[in-house]
Amino acid sequence: MLNRAFIKSVCALTAAVALPAQALAANVVVFNGDPPGVGFNDPTPADPIGGNPGTTRGQQALNVFQSAADAWGKRLQSDQTINVIAFFTPLNCTATSGTLGAAGANWYFVDSPAAPGGKGMKPGTWYHAALAEKLTKTELTTEADPNDFYEIFSLFNSNLGNPGCLDGSGWYFGLDNQQPSNLIDLKAVVLHEFGHGLGFSLGLTSSNTGIRNSGFPTVWEEYMYDVTAGKTWLNMTDAERSASARNDRNLVWIGNQANNNVSAVLDREIILNATGVSPITPGPASFGGQVTQAPGRGVSGPLSAPNDGGGASLLDGCEPYSGPTALAGQFALVNRGSCTFAIKAQNAQAAGAVGVIIANNAAGTLSPGGAAADVTIPVFGVTMAEGAALRAAIAAGPVVADISASARTRAGTTVGYPRLYAPTVFAQGSSVSHWDVSMSPSVLMEPSITPELTSSVKNPEDLTRGLLRDIGW
Ligand SMILES: [Zn+2]
Repeated sequence: MLNRAFIKSVCALTAAVALPAQALAANVVVFNGDPPGVGFNDPTPADPIGGNPGTTRGQQALNVFQSAADAWGKRLQSDQTINVIAFFTPLNCTATSGTLGAAGANWYFVDSPAAPGGKGMKPGTWYHAALAEKLTKTELTTEADPNDFYEIFSLFNSNLGNPGCLDGSGWYFGLDNQQPSNLIDLKAVVLHEFGHGLGFSLGLTSSNTGIRNSGFPTVWEEYMYDVTAGKTWLNMTDAERSASARNDRNLVWIGNQANNNVSAVLDREIILNATGVSPITPGPASFGGQVTQAPGRGVSGPLSAPNDGGGASLLDGCEPYSGPTALAGQFALVNRGSCTFAIKAQNAQAAGAVGVIIANNAAGTLSPGGAAADVTIPVFGVTMAEGAALRAAIAAGPVVADISASARTRAGTTVGYPRLYAPTVFAQGSSVSHWDVSMSPSVLMEPSITPELTSSVKNPEDLTRGLLRDIGW
């Protein structure tokens, strides 16, 4: 029994060109699915860059894809060739946001018999095509449809950086992870998307509704544990799975292989302790100073909720404070809204603050985004409720705040297990099938690309391969 993945029409190509592949632990072959003159066949001249010898835009893009395929091939073991059909084509995009790429298993299989020597699949369980073939030692896709033998399909946005599509941005085609700050590392994005295709995705069960395809669970479900429900997705109803997909920070991965790598991969968790308030796990900003990883040796100071003297709110920190010592030695608690996170941090730093805590003005956790190279003090976000608790404590008496690395817990974990991305507001295409954004440092399979992301699928740099080993790779 088998089922097709959700994007099928794009794979109805007429002519595919196979690239020669090297002898690797797993042979990952990229097929160019683009028509003449565009995408991978774009003849626009390009200068070789960052170890990529291609001399046209299309050739450079294809070289990046094969480099990513080879990187995965070295990290995986399979006797069956993994065929990837790839399109470098315009995808959804606006001037300020856009889809970088998308990929998935081209087929899923359940209860496929194994050839002699094959380990076999767990009964009644959906598997991504490439993993199903590894476990059964069988060319399942070719048996299903000789004209559609691809295990993975992938789409990448060829419009990036053109007018109207993430203006000012563009792809970096180098293979060395040395992209300028305005460009996006294509290799990292391709590695990420190929990861989904190989098995880093929930698969055929709907992460939104929790409904299973044909009643069978996917191979992910026994490792997806909801900390508050106290059970795995394997043992939940559709409604329980749907709720769990929105149980922010409480949906975790309990597979041994990924968990064995947690302490090697993830930093220590940063904890905010304030007088009279339960310990808080604040969300780190994408800018500002780092808190040392030495447990208990972070930043401390009196916590204040300063009045900024004007603007839309006196508590939003959007106006400069009265002078360079107005907040000397203090942690400043300000509310989100009216201006950028960077402006709030710059104002507090200019007044002598040692750190900034920004309280959310909407439901959910807050990791302040943006950039401000001049901000050297640490900046964190807290929830609306945590902000209210801190304000109440300040009103009740002197509060000392301390932000330090935990001696016991790692960033991005709950009760010791790594978190899957399960924001309160469901994010189609992102929820569940990624690691959580609270992981630090960034890992390959987070939902958004970050500048610190490395082109690595290997422990100790990342947890990705551990998860794939858990499901059978
Ligand atoms: Zn993704």
